[in-house]
Amino acid sequence: MKRVHNGSISIAEIINDPFNFTYNEICGAIGESGAKSIYSLLYKKDFVKKARSIWIKEVIKDAQANKYIFELSDNKYIETVSIKRRTGVSACVSAQVGCPCKCIFCESGKNGFIRNLSASEIVQQVIYLKERVNRIVFMGIGEPLFNYDVLIKSIHILRDRNGLDFPTDGITISTIGTIKMLKKIREEHIKIQLTLSLHAAAQKVRDYLMPATRGNDINETVKAALSYSKRHNRKLVVAYLLLRGINDSASDIKKLVEWFKGENAMINLLEYNKTSGALTSVDKRRLEHFKNSLLSYGIEAKIRSSRGRNINAACGQLASRYNKT
Ligand code: SF4
Repeated sequence: MKRVHNGSISIAEIINDPFNFTYNEICGAIGESGAKSIYSLLYKKDFVKKARSIWIKEVIKDAQANKYIFELSDNKYIETVSIKRRTGVSACVSAQVGCPCKCIFCESGKNGFIRNLSASEIVQQVIYLKERVNRIVFMGIGEPLFNYDVLIKSIHILRDRNGLDFPTDGITISTIGTIKMLKKIREEHIKIQLTLSLHAAAQKVRDYLMPATRGNDINETVKAALSYSKRHNRKLVVAYLLLRGINDSASDIKKLVEWFKGENAMINLLEYNKTSGALTSVDKRRLEHFKNSLLSYGIEAKIRSSRGRNINAACGQLASRYNKT
C-alpha cells in the first residue's frame, strides 16, 4: 500500500473503509481540501452509501423502538436500537460483537465476546439508521470502555464539524465502570454524558451481578464516576436495576443516599426485563417506594420506562441470535 504525507494512513485505506478515519487522519493523507470533500460526501450526502462495511440484515419494529440487526463484513452481527423520545430519536449503539462482561441480568453477555468493533462500524450504526438521530447512547452490546481507543476515535468522527457535527453533549457512554477506565476517561477532553451501571449498593451484590467488576471497590468506583462528573461539569446518571430481594432493601437506599446526597447525580431506576435467568423484578409498588424514599432524602431519582421490550430491544435484551461463538 502506498503511504502518503505523514505515513499514517494511505489513500487505499481511505477508499477501502472511509468511515474509519478522523478528519485529521484524512487531512494528513490527502490534505485539507480533499478531507473536506470526503467528509462532506460521507456525512452530508448519500454518495458513499455503497462504501459501507455493515449492512442491514433485519429491522424489527414496534411503536417505541426499532431494532436493527447489522451484518458486518466478516459475517458477524450486531444490534442497534433506535428509541423514539418526545424530542427526537436516540440511537443505542453497540461497541463490541458480544460482550466479555457476563452481567447476570443481561442477555448480551451470554454468548461471550467475539471481537471489538472498528470506529467505522460504530459510526455506520448511526448514519444508516433510517431515523434522524439526535442522541447517541453507547448502551448496546458490549462494554464501550473496553474498546477505548476506538470509542474515542468514533466520537471524534461523529462530532467533527466537517462531517456529522454531532453535539458532544448528545452522546452518552454507559459503563460498568472499572476504576481504571473511569480514571482514564476523566482525563479526555470530551464532555460526554456518563452513565454508571451501578446496580448495587453493596460490594458482594455487585460482584455477584457484574462479575467483570470484581476487584473494583464499590466506594472507589462511585468516587471515580463522581470525579468525572465534577471535572466535566456533567450530571452523573446512575443506572440501578431493581431486583427483588437482591438490591432493594432499606440499607441499599441508605448507601445510595450516603454516596449521592448533595452530588450532581441522578439515579435511574430500571425495571428488570426478564430474560432467561433466575432473577425477579420488583413490583410497581416497590419500585415507587424505592424512588420515593430516595426523593425524600433529596436524591434525584426516576423510574426509567423500558422501551422496546416487545421486540427484545430493551436494556439487557440485545443478543444477536445470528452470532455463533
Ligand atoms: S450489561 Fe452491558 S456490560 Fe454487562 S454483559 Fe450486558 S452488554 Fe455487557
